[in-house]
Amino acid sequence: MSLAPDGSAPPSSSTNGSTASGGSADIIEQTLTWGAHNYHPLEVVVSKAQGCWVEDPEGNRYLDMLAAYSAVNQGHLHPRIIGALVEQAGRVTLTSRAFHNDKLGPFLEQLARLSGFEKVLPMNTGAEAVETGIKAARKWGEKVKGVPAGEGEIITFEGNFHGRTTTIVGFSSDAQTRDGFGPFTPGFVSVPYGDIDALAAAMNERTVAVLAEPIQAEGGILVPPEGYLQKMRALCDQHNVLMYLDEIQTGLGRTGKMFCFEHAGIRPDLVSVGKALGGGVFPVSALLADDKVMSVFNPGDHGSTFGGNPLGAAVAMAALDVLIDEGLVARAQELGEYTFKRLRAIDSPHIAEVRGKGLLIGIEVPVSSGVAKPFCKKLMKRGLLCKETHEQVIRLAPPLVIEKSELDWALDQIEAVFTA
Ligand SMILES: *Cc1c(COP(=O)(O)O)cnc(C)c1O
Repeated sequence: MSLAPDGSAPPSSSTNGSTASGGSADIIEQTLTWGAHNYHPLEVVVSKAQGCWVEDPEGNRYLDMLAAYSAVNQGHLHPRIIGALVEQAGRVTLTSRAFHNDKLGPFLEQLARLSGFEKVLPMNTGAEAVETGIKAARKWGEKVKGVPAGEGEIITFEGNFHGRTTTIVGFSSDAQTRDGFGPFTPGFVSVPYGDIDALAAAMNERTVAVLAEPIQAEGGILVPPEGYLQKMRALCDQHNVLMYLDEIQTGLGRTGKMFCFEHAGIRPDLVSVGKALGGGVFPVSALLADDKVMSVFNPGDHGSTFGGNPLGAAVAMAALDVLIDEGLVARAQELGEYTFKRLRAIDSPHIAEVRGKGLLIGIEVPVSSGVAKPFCKKLMKRGLLCKETHEQVIRLAPPLVIEKSELDWALDQIEAVFTA
């Protein structure tokens, strides 16, 4: 297995010994040898991190402009979150939901009050939270709306990303995401994202929910047209359909509001959150809804061994505290506006469009300039870790704790690469 397919040398090559003994090249080889090849990471090994910065075993430092797909909004190793982790690890970590634990109640109340929803159902990964929402919507459809058993339909969108379970990939429009994994769960229909007439036409008396991302992040940082979410809300009301927004990536401050739907001034019926809810430390996700939907779940209907565990709950409470106490939501808004201004001022034939909200920003590379990945590699050589999404788009999503001076430095590197 070659270590650097593009011919570039990794930051340094360790030659000491037969097992991976600490050097980046050895570690990458070991990972490729023993791990399934379901990812194709950049050729960089992270062995330490702090705030916005990560470091490889050779001591090279990089500014993290991906923040683990927004799971590290609070920055790496935030002392308050790590403190909560360590403190809770010395008390109790797991009880299962067969018993109560003393951290779950406070966490549920905090997240419910923060979001304005009456009930919270805790899970671990994002995909599990989405699955939970799908189950809630289907059961609500059958028990409350009166859709005949097994006939409920959920409307999804072309370009969606909601996770990797077999049900969820079944309604992906991405060929590779689906290829080979069928047969898929029925009951999902798909319409173009941003097209309100297509959505209206897809609604019928069997529709139980519309499942959407308020911005399609994995899809290429696609922001829907102005007024789209408001019209989606109105259609859902008109047809007695649940509006279900997946805020796993857009939520918790990333777009300059606590939840991206606040930009539209509407309130969905179901929301899934994850990623930054665990403060970059521990997987914590949740489904948020009011009683009228959440009450469809009865004891035994749904669950998770680790969901709602006290370690995750303690971490999540600290993660939410940090977002609020450090004003990270307003920070994302301010720094986002500044970043847009600077990016849009770059005069480069390699930038087709800059789009997004807050600190969730996509730079689209025109097809005439090739794909985005080589630009990411050049940025990496300048100490910036970025990842392309969907061939043509470079996503910028740094930790929300990033300093203005650090952001300026990052923008200088981006400008240099795009104007070279
Ligand atoms: C990351 C993501 C998910 C899946 O979360 P996992 O924790 O990887 O399962 C679902 N929806 C959106 C919008 C995401 O960005």
